[in-house]
Amino acid sequence: MKHFAGTMLLSSAMGLMASGSAMAHEMDVSARLEHIKSMFDAKSIVEGPKVVDCTLSGGTETQCFSITLKNSLDHDEMGSWCPENIGDGDDKGGIWMRDGKSIDVDGAFIENLATFYDDPEWQLFDKETGKINVTDTKEACAAAAAIIVADEYNNYCVKCDPAYMDELTETTYVLPLVPVPLEGEPDDNQHGQRGVAFNGVVFDGSAPQDVILAAHTVAPLDDCGGHVNLHAGYHYHGANGCSPEEKVAEADAPMIGFAMDGYPILAKLTGDDAEDADLDACSGHTAKSIGYHYHGNSAEKNAILGCFHGESGCALHSADAVCKADELPAGPPPGQDGERPDGPPPGQERPEAAE
Ligand SMILES: [Zn+2]
Ligand SMILES: [Zn+2]
Repeated sequence: MKHFAGTMLLSSAMGLMASGSAMAHEMDVSARLEHIKSMFDAKSIVEGPKVVDCTLSGGTETQCFSITLKNSLDHDEMGSWCPENIGDGDDKGGIWMRDGKSIDVDGAFIENLATFYDDPEWQLFDKETGKINVTDTKEACAAAAAIIVADEYNNYCVKCDPAYMDELTETTYVLPLVPVPLEGEPDDNQHGQRGVAFNGVVFDGSAPQDVILAAHTVAPLDDCGGHVNLHAGYHYHGANGCSPEEKVAEADAPMIGFAMDGYPILAKLTGDDAEDADLDACSGHTAKSIGYHYHGNSAEKNAILGCFHGESGCALHSADAVCKADELPAGPPPGQDGERPDGPPPGQERPEAAE
């Protein structure tokens, strides 16, 4: 019954703009905020949600909900990433992606990299002891995960431990209460955040694999599709079915989070459901019950969403900052999974504008 009511609220919020009376509008909004709050892991909510004015990426001025979130996972719920020795099994490592396929990163995978990539310069381990080069300090993580990888960290398995984060990253998401479809082509820029999971973990853009591989490094994801960089903290490059789910009545999958344009992200579809869904280039489609929504891709696609169907809101570093997504810069080229060492991607606040 609770879930049924939730769906009704979601659809009533979708129809909110058409709603006649101001009273009904206010009740709809406060019910919508309550519903949004209930979807997130309570431990992940730092502040909000509340209603704020916002300007979306396409210039639409509207009302958004603002919620400040942090990653609510315990340390042992993240990892593992890099095996220590070529004799290690896949329980000691995470996953890597190539050509749309997910590969277990175990000791044998590291041992065989030169063959795997047909490039003899791959040599991530000590030939005598089998010990694998792993970045095991904060400094090493920073140097190996930079746009230009420091020479001494060529041929490393890049592991950034969550403990290297001095403090948990808090991000304020300002997302439209009623999503606004983009006019014309969808936005397929893959840099920057795609959305957020109900445990407060970022659904991030694509990992810059070309940069990573050029330095003969791998930056494995854990089995949940996540890893750490010092800027963003722990973030997902895939929706691998680990984050909390919210049942949605009549929907084809449970909801797992919000996209930056405010549309729901639902869990990945498999088998016949995936065939029948006929998803668009953005990994989304429209259903009678909840309207347009995405189904998040798992890590092997290296793109949780193919593109944005709607105008994006903002991910800000201050709960008081105003979302003017139309004024944000186009964003820097992606760094190696430092991903945004010099500045924020579209939809994110410029550092100098931060409080
Ligand atoms: Zn669907
Ligand atoms: Zn990453």
